[in-house]
Amino acid sequence: MPSGTNLATDPLSSNQRLIVPYTTLWSSENNLPMPIVERHGYGIGYADEIAADRDTYGVLWQRTLSRPREGRPEFGNVHSLRQRRAMRRLLCQVCSEPADRTDDGMLWLLPDYREDWPNWPEGMGNVEPPVCRACVSTSMRLCPKLRKDGGAVIRVREYPIIGVRGLVYASGTRQPVAVEDRTIGFDDPLVRWVRAVGLVRQMLGCRIVPFEELAEPDHQLVVVPQLMEGA
Ligand SMILES: [Zn+2]
Repeated sequence: MPSGTNLATDPLSSNQRLIVPYTTLWSSENNLPMPIVERHGYGIGYADEIAADRDTYGVLWQRTLSRPREGRPEFGNVHSLRQRRAMRRLLCQVCSEPADRTDDGMLWLLPDYREDWPNWPEGMGNVEPPVCRACVSTSMRLCPKLRKDGGAVIRVREYPIIGVRGLVYASGTRQPVAVEDRTIGFDDPLVRWVRAVGLVRQMLGCRIVPFEELAEPDHQLVVVPQLMEGA
């Protein structure tokens, strides 16, 4: 069991111990008021906005309490602040330890959509934080999406932060209206109309890795430098 992984007992099946990924939202964390208003000539904001509601790019972020392990895990829903922290600092999205990096690149585990286009996932904007080696097999065993679609292990050489995933709003008669959930680059003017839920990195220099390769001893493991600014 990787250190840092949250264990919880599901009240509905008290004999079953659950592994709850670091970035998973808990039911006690999702009930903060977020009164969206239009900033004329600019985009959206909160009526009671504070500085912490925006990141260094000026993007508005979803508000979340930080109460991990309180209530029930909401699998499939992501805690935006923990996602942001894991993505910025390149921490494993499951156990929050540093993700795995070798000379070959950073390690990602994604649902396997390699049939979607040639060279998938080269160039893709990705909202999933990376993983450590220990959590690959755990995730493959326990994550319903990976069990359904299969998983692809990918080494990525370059992974710049390029934008956010979130809910895009448009100007409305009384207040802004939510339009669509999508990925938006920091260079897109629409980014001022988004309420972000996740940080997006672009996947460049990708190589899909056979699972067996991960099982081999790796002498080139390096420690991920913690140079990035905290989320
Ligand atoms: Zn891990």
